[in-house]
Amino acid sequence: MKIDNNIPYKIYLDEKEMPKAWYNLRADMKNKPAPLLNPATLEPMTFDDLIPVFCDDLVKQELDDTTPYFEIPEEIRDFYKMYRPAPLVRAYCLEEKLGTPAKIYYKFEGNNTSGSHKLNSAIAQAYYAKKQGLKGVTTETGAGQWGTALSMACSYFDLDCKVYMVKCSYEQKPFRREVMRTYGASVTPSPSMDTKIGQKINAEHPGTTGSLGCAISEAVEVATSTPGYRYVLGSVLNQVLLHQSIIGLETKAALDKYNIKPDVIIGCAGGGSNLGGLIAPFMGEKLRGEADYEIIAVEPASCPSFTRGKYAYDFCDTGMVCPLAKMKTLGADFIPAPNHAGGLRYHGMSSTLSQLYEDGYMKAVSVTQTDVFAAAEQFARVEGILPAPESSHAIKVAIDEALKCKETGEEKTIVFGLTGTGYFDMYAYEKFHDGLMSDYIPTDEELEKSLAKLPKVEK
Ligand SMILES: *Cc1c(COP(=O)(O)O)cnc(C)c1O
Repeated sequence: MKIDNNIPYKIYLDEKEMPKAWYNLRADMKNKPAPLLNPATLEPMTFDDLIPVFCDDLVKQELDDTTPYFEIPEEIRDFYKMYRPAPLVRAYCLEEKLGTPAKIYYKFEGNNTSGSHKLNSAIAQAYYAKKQGLKGVTTETGAGQWGTALSMACSYFDLDCKVYMVKCSYEQKPFRREVMRTYGASVTPSPSMDTKIGQKINAEHPGTTGSLGCAISEAVEVATSTPGYRYVLGSVLNQVLLHQSIIGLETKAALDKYNIKPDVIIGCAGGGSNLGGLIAPFMGEKLRGEADYEIIAVEPASCPSFTRGKYAYDFCDTGMVCPLAKMKTLGADFIPAPNHAGGLRYHGMSSTLSQLYEDGYMKAVSVTQTDVFAAAEQFARVEGILPAPESSHAIKVAIDEALKCKETGEEKTIVFGLTGTGYFDMYAYEKFHDGLMSDYIPTDEELEKSLAKLPKVEK
């Protein structure tokens, strides 16, 4: 193996080199992402409309598309130091195995107990809730990574945490549930009978095993009807992309330290938070005309919001209690086929990334889950990390890009986001190993059905 001795195998930053401010990509966008709309009036949501749902400081971040940098409060920076900076690793062994001239780097976000990048935003959201003097927060979780991250953040700041967990995950992932309870969160399977919307959904769909959109409606209802509580969300929103910019800022600082310029940047996309965070400073340069990068979002073929969705206003949840967001969407009614990358099963996409995609600043590809697990296994066998199924979408396309370089002889530098570890996903790996994994791809007719129910908004 040819190791470059001038560059560390893993590039770490010193604590002193860690970013002190988050970068708000929207500040550099000429076409700003479309505003959230009030579903009743179809007028843009204002600060006053949003503060019954979200913490005050987070609403300010959500609505601000002109301030480029937000200082990271010292308490959050101190918490970050517990598990950051995350390493930027050169995948030498994978390169050798593939026989590619490409140089592959990955930013590894799995070095904390929640097992993913979600802690970066969870700690920020818990901090602002505490600062506001709140008692607690509510949220939903699908696969469980977000609920775990938020439980950790809430226990750190001594806040109560109520998690509505999609019922099928609650039953299939008892270990995730217990991790959350270890950190003091209460975990309720959704749809539950505790909320009006849960009762309604249970009555209309007896025996349903729930969905993210349904759990969001329940968590929002509880937050807005319980004094001293607010709702927090782990992806999709602008504020979450802002907090996740720590990923990209660290990556860029590490690359700059050794004068490395990436050609291709790849990330998996569920609601868009890790991808939005990873690409933020690079996209900023691209938007300002200072540099160019090829940026690729990777999504599951079973839930293809970028590649087959419509760019339109849609509901963010099943109960239709949340504001409308303009985004690449498959329709709030779309229930993706069971896919083992639970974190990528949302029907919509960050408005910021949707706008950038529409404007041609980034591409997207969709991949099937057996191909993803084959890539995950290939990676695990040589790089030593057991990747999360979500993260493995990025691995799959990084490998594909590296193999293209093998054909052309190009020595491209490829950077991808390795968002987390897959220890709680061993049932999925088992299905793959036993040859029982299927690759469901929705038909055009199915997509048309859910897209036909998009709200009629002339904006
Ligand atoms: C939640 C999750 C994702 C997808 O969420 P984004 O908001 O799109 O980043 C990806 N990887 C892991 C490990 C996750 O937990």
